[in-house]
Amino acid sequence: MRDLSGGPRVLLRRLRELMAEPLEPQDRLDRIVRQIAGNMVAEVCSVYVLRADGVLELYATEGLNREAVHLAQLKMGQGLVGTIAASAQPLNLSDAQSHPAFRYLPETGEEIYHSFLGVPILRTGRSLGVLVVQNKASRNYREEELEALETTAMVLAEMIATGELKKITKPGLELDLTRSVTVDGDTYNDGIGLGYVVLHEPRIVVTNLLNEDAEKEIRRLAEAMGSLRISIDDMLSRRDVSMEGEHREVLETYRMFAHDQGWVRKLEEAIRNGLTAEAAVEKVQSDTKARMMRLTDPYLRERMHDFEDLANRLLRQLTGYTGRTTGEGFPSDAIILARAMGAAELLDYPRSNVRGLVLEEGAVTSHVVIVARAMGIPVIGQAAGVVALAENGDAVIIDADEGHVHLRPMADHRRSYEEKVRFRARRQEQFRALRAVEPVTKDGQRIALMMNAGLLVDLPQLSESGAEGIGLFRTELQFMIASTMPKAEEQEQFYRNVIKQAAGRSVTFRTLDIGGDKVVPYFRGHEEENPALGWRAIRLSLDRPGLLRTQLRALLKASADTELKLMVPMVTEVSELKMVRELLQKEVQHLSRFGHGLPRKLQFGAMLEVPALLWQLDELMEAVDFVSVGSNDLFQFAMAVDRGNARVSDRFDPLGKPFLRILRDIVRGADRNKTPVTLCGELASKPISAMALLGIGFRSISMSPASIGPVKAMLLGLDVGALTKAMDEVLDDHHALTPMREVLARFAESHNIPL
Ligand code: PEP
Ligand code: MG
Repeated sequence: MRDLSGGPRVLLRRLRELMAEPLEPQDRLDRIVRQIAGNMVAEVCSVYVLRADGVLELYATEGLNREAVHLAQLKMGQGLVGTIAASAQPLNLSDAQSHPAFRYLPETGEEIYHSFLGVPILRTGRSLGVLVVQNKASRNYREEELEALETTAMVLAEMIATGELKKITKPGLELDLTRSVTVDGDTYNDGIGLGYVVLHEPRIVVTNLLNEDAEKEIRRLAEAMGSLRISIDDMLSRRDVSMEGEHREVLETYRMFAHDQGWVRKLEEAIRNGLTAEAAVEKVQSDTKARMMRLTDPYLRERMHDFEDLANRLLRQLTGYTGRTTGEGFPSDAIILARAMGAAELLDYPRSNVRGLVLEEGAVTSHVVIVARAMGIPVIGQAAGVVALAENGDAVIIDADEGHVHLRPMADHRRSYEEKVRFRARRQEQFRALRAVEPVTKDGQRIALMMNAGLLVDLPQLSESGAEGIGLFRTELQFMIASTMPKAEEQEQFYRNVIKQAAGRSVTFRTLDIGGDKVVPYFRGHEEENPALGWRAIRLSLDRPGLLRTQLRALLKASADTELKLMVPMVTEVSELKMVRELLQKEVQHLSRFGHGLPRKLQFGAMLEVPALLWQLDELMEAVDFVSVGSNDLFQFAMAVDRGNARVSDRFDPLGKPFLRILRDIVRGADRNKTPVTLCGELASKPISAMALLGIGFRSISMSPASIGPVKAMLLGLDVGALTKAMDEVLDDHHALTPMREVLARFAESHNIPL
């Protein structure tokens, strides 16, 4: 009778010795299979390794015909071995030949073996190969034997993952682990980035697999588990959980797993079989993941992510890992891969080293994406499964123009992208050369090109892009990325900083525009059926005058002795402006009463985003010092299309007649009243639409900083007088059939204007 508890432990000790010896990889593999066969009293032990072409190749065998090594092959899903690899599940058969998937490979001479036990060689739930033992006699392998073989397979996984088998891989072939894969996602910010993977939640690479003392390891596990439970309880008791990138529901799930006795039992069993505590965590994580990967229920799959995160946390506890490698060894061209991430966490990375961001989740409007856009890096979201497929340091290309993430790309693929990046860089260079060039059209019209901003990370773009000033400063972003409501002093300090960094260029601050899709977690309103039409922006501010007055006071104080340009979002009736002005007046009086410095000049403006204002144009223009058109919202309300709903948001063209006529009426109303008008929606960011805006009379537009160069290149060659004539003809002709976009494109082409 064999000693079952000693069996695997003895085997693992031998394997550890073998791993430490300076052996050639083939020799090491041969000895490993011999050890396993001997220890498990099996006549056969074989290792199959998965190649990048989806073929499982026999790499070593004890018992089968040795001539078949590197010759015998099975495709993924083919035969028993292929079935194990494809399903990432073990097979324990007393009569292998009677299994429907059995496939006879004559070169191996295996027909005389009846019993068969095969386990996948797993790493992070992926099959890298298959380990098999066989016996002549018909028998069922015991649960302990299966467990022992799975544990042994981890050693092989490590050998494969460290690249040791490269030497014995046929020239021209690659192992699956290094295969290039493309994961598709959605474009959140376009651009192309080449670099190396940085996993935001790095997986700990467990190198210390085999334990010396199981009881000691079980104690280490219990301690780590205890600290893990405490840290989760801690996080749950903090009020600001939702801003940590971890939501309450996820944490509750963590807590559930952390107290799951089944999990603890499996971990202890793996330790008793000879693994260290961290190797046990990795093994159980890999097994669980392989099992759960086949689930189709999205809720359960989501829980799999949670389980994985938790196991990673436990690994970090066990290995004493303390934080991200942002220092030495951090690649100079990092592409960050994360399941989800908080905005502040992205700001923790050294900005100049980050070339792109890939998220498995996220939404275009999520805070981290807003920050990434401000940083000017390409972003892909909804890239399902990308984290598990990547290893830290893998080469990666993110093509956010097309929504592809290419992991471990082939050399020629990489070369073609390098060419693309060079081309883009040349264009950027050309735009940069225009920075100091005055934005004057060919027929002498001076255009104000402003940029949109909202965070301090945006400010350097002011001089880099050559923008004249900030036409829209979205003050709500500071509120959106904070975990608690920014205090009055924090707001003031922030605005002071913005003004200082703008170094004399004008900044138009917009008062808080929260509500709708701009969620501030610590300030929750009621559930709304139509949030875009709901309690948001100035409506909310007027109902919470304390909030608005605090902001106004902070802005006034920060602008002492300079000019303050202030505007109000989502105005619907002119009377709302009067109310804001009264509050502003009160704040001015308050500050002067207490001897505070006041702005040298105060300009008060309104955003035109709600169509109702179109029938109050003259009153509006009289009531303010300037008007700024928020074309994103104005378009959504005018055309009744939700700007966040991809199914309808592109349905109508903002360069179509209805919307351009609306915009032209606004410019005419402003001219009539001699009120300065500008436009700060996305429409100003594309050269063709910016050209249309100039054509209908805008002389000031505000856009994303990256657009300043291309828009300036467009206007330098533009005869805007001729364009106005051409556009008016179409806009005034009720029977004109050619779509305006085409008219514009033709105009540009015939006048040699780069779009
Ligand atoms: C707009 O609506 O066009 C605008 C500039 O404001 P936001 O995009 O912040 O709603
Ligand atoms: Mg808006």
